[in-house]
Amino acid sequence: MYVIGIDGGGSKTIAVLADKHGTVIAKETVGPTNPNSVGKEEASIRMAGLLSSIKGKHPLQYNQVAALFAGIAGASSPVNKKNLTEAFQPTLPRNCLLTVDHDAVIALYSGTFGHPGAVHISGTGSISYGIDDEWNRHRVGGWGYLIGDEGSGYSIGKAGLHAALQAHDSITTGTSLLEKIKQHFRVAHLPEIIPLVYTQEARQTIAQLAKIVIEAVDENDPVAHKIIQTEANKISIQLAALVNQMTINTNRLLPVILTGGVMQRADLFEAAIRCHMKQHVTTPVQVTKVALPPVAGAVIGAFKHAHISFHEKSFA
Ligand code: BGC
Repeated sequence: MYVIGIDGGGSKTIAVLADKHGTVIAKETVGPTNPNSVGKEEASIRMAGLLSSIKGKHPLQYNQVAALFAGIAGASSPVNKKNLTEAFQPTLPRNCLLTVDHDAVIALYSGTFGHPGAVHISGTGSISYGIDDEWNRHRVGGWGYLIGDEGSGYSIGKAGLHAALQAHDSITTGTSLLEKIKQHFRVAHLPEIIPLVYTQEARQTIAQLAKIVIEAVDENDPVAHKIIQTEANKISIQLAALVNQMTINTNRLLPVILTGGVMQRADLFEAAIRCHMKQHVTTPVQVTKVALPPVAGAVIGAFKHAHISFHEKSFA
């Protein structure tokens, strides 16, 4: 018996075929599949392509897939969920259980092994999400790059870009971001980046600048440092609002999982989050950076749905 787990994020989509012990047999990656940013047709074509590629390479195992669990950014909207479900269905083996859910659910499961808790994703986009002890779902933020996504790669990258432009316009001084961003885009003068930014891929292009801001923080750039502090505060406020909505019945520490590309540097955010939680949340929490990739949470979701028991250790 096999399962498929899919992680559809803002920049890429990963699918894995795993056996009943959680051992990965095959892994395929395609571009982003958030229907809100790439459109429903593109999202559906990419998803169907992922499955046929796995099927083509591993036909025997594919026919024994008992459950597919896909966590996809943007899938919380019923229309997007319906379209994505329709994209998967025709290629799936008969009797395969299909779940299309939000990417935050698999991100949470990758940290809690399918148990209740809270998660904050900061990747290209961002969201704070929780499942409480009564299995009620809660969400704060994650409203997309145009009107939300606090603490995301996009938000940090945009702030970095803005700071570089302000330095270029001699409104501010004292930041290495101007030079770093010129180097990143390989241009001699900052205004030359404008046509490179205003493209169809603007969201991903800007989100990639987050790593430049973080690099500048590591080199003690005060402007970059301020950007990260501001974004860390936004994340803290979101997470506190989230946890305060959740019903917690047990005395255990509520896991608060930090995940996504930006949170590879969770060390830059953890102190602010812990401090804010201490002051604004009564539930005792344990803030941790997730060890497993979100796609492992999708495999865990598939196991849960198909009632396949698993050991946390097999994912280590
Ligand atoms: C999307 C959310 C997603 C979040 C994290 C946001 O841009 O709107 O649906 O959960 O990014 O990937």
